[in-house]
Amino acid sequence: MFQLEMTPEQQAFVESISNVCRKFDDSYWTDHDQNHKFPDAFFEAMVEVGVVGMLAQPEYGGAGASIEDAALALQTIAASGAGINGCSAVHLSMFGFHPVVLHASAELQKKYLPRVASGEIHVSFSVTEPDAGSDTGRISTRAHETEDGWRLRGRKVWMTKAQQSSAALVLARTSPVEEGKRPIDGLSLFVVDLDPEYVTINPIAKMGRNAVSSCEVVFDDLPIPRENLVGELGKGFYTILDGLNPERILVAAEAVGLGQVALDRATNYANERIVFGRPIGKNQGIQHPLADAYMQLRGAAALVQQAARLYDNGQQCAVEANTAKFLAGRAAFYACDRAVQTHGGMGYAVEYQVERFFRESRMLRITPVSEEQIMNYIAEHELHLPRSY
Ligand SMILES: Cc1cc2nc3c(=O)[nH]c(=O)nc-3n(C[C@H](O)[C@H](O)[C@H](O)COP(=O)(O)OP(=O)(O)OC[C@H]3O[C@@H](n4cnc5c(N)ncnc54)[C@H](O)[C@@H]3O)c2cc1C
Repeated sequence: MFQLEMTPEQQAFVESISNVCRKFDDSYWTDHDQNHKFPDAFFEAMVEVGVVGMLAQPEYGGAGASIEDAALALQTIAASGAGINGCSAVHLSMFGFHPVVLHASAELQKKYLPRVASGEIHVSFSVTEPDAGSDTGRISTRAHETEDGWRLRGRKVWMTKAQQSSAALVLARTSPVEEGKRPIDGLSLFVVDLDPEYVTINPIAKMGRNAVSSCEVVFDDLPIPRENLVGELGKGFYTILDGLNPERILVAAEAVGLGQVALDRATNYANERIVFGRPIGKNQGIQHPLADAYMQLRGAAALVQQAARLYDNGQQCAVEANTAKFLAGRAAFYACDRAVQTHGGMGYAVEYQVERFFRESRMLRITPVSEEQIMNYIAEHELHLPRSY
């Protein structure tokens, strides 16, 4: 485990998660990935072991756990071989509704959070549109006010788990972009029920993490009750900002776990595979990149822990959370790439699993925030260079 230190309670929690994950072996994940099947049995097992509800407040049936503990849980899941398929099956239920926890009315919290924490319903989170990803202020999905609430109209893309979800947090425009000082003004955040009468969902064919779909979702005047507004009208962008750092920390932890399992598989193979009469791991051309991957992952893990602890102590952590996400994503990608290379031709075969990890590692450099956007942030806010866009 790439972790600087763990309390006995954390160690016991990690072990209990590992024990459950062991029941879901490589063939389970290969089957679900290849056949694009959501891992329902795994999700249920994660509800049972206390992962799904761990971040929710105790009054809503959760454990009120720290981001540090949630990071450990997700790292453990990824490192078990479940990879990002396993993490993505559960993590939206853990932190996708974080803005509801922080900003929604007690009534709205009571309506949704207990069902999310208990795993009764799945939820999604939707910002990205065909014409607006990094440039969030350009989203055009619109919520029009009606007598008793709003009607939502527009098209979103990449909405992860939309097919399983009963409800979603959706960012939509409630006043024209020209009326605000900045393009991000006039956006509002809503909890919406994904009623099939008004919502069309189609999975996007993609490179990896295929047990969990990400979808194009069309809203055709979906009614939203007035009380489902989260935070202030027109300030939705600021409402989601609070949830971004924990999301980055947790995805960084997943990346460390993914790199860890790829490295484990690579070192095992390097010790076993005999070429020219000796294990391939005896060659520095094989062992040095693996040692390099190990150090990159350890460094990233230390930053994940630092960022998580800052967040849990109520301190600023944007630089640490972004840096952890950036470095962990790259470290995972490097470890997975070297795992494929170490396996030679078998690295390309589904049977050895590392090609699945490799495909998953690529997305961690793009989502939930791209490497370029992180570098833009660091350049502007830490290096005090002029904003480039
Ligand atoms: C598997 C997967 C799951 C996802 N799940 C969700 C989800 O559940 N909900 C959701 O809302 N979104 C989701 N996303 C979307 C994801 O958050 C976006 O893809 C990401 O934020 C980038 O936005 P974009 O794809 O529109 O890229 P664009 O904004 O079109 O950018 C394209 C490229 O240009 C770069 N770029 C843009 N502007 C600049 C600049 N000023 N300087 C330097 N480089 C720049 C970007 O970094 C990127 O590399 C998911 C994406 C994937 C792949």
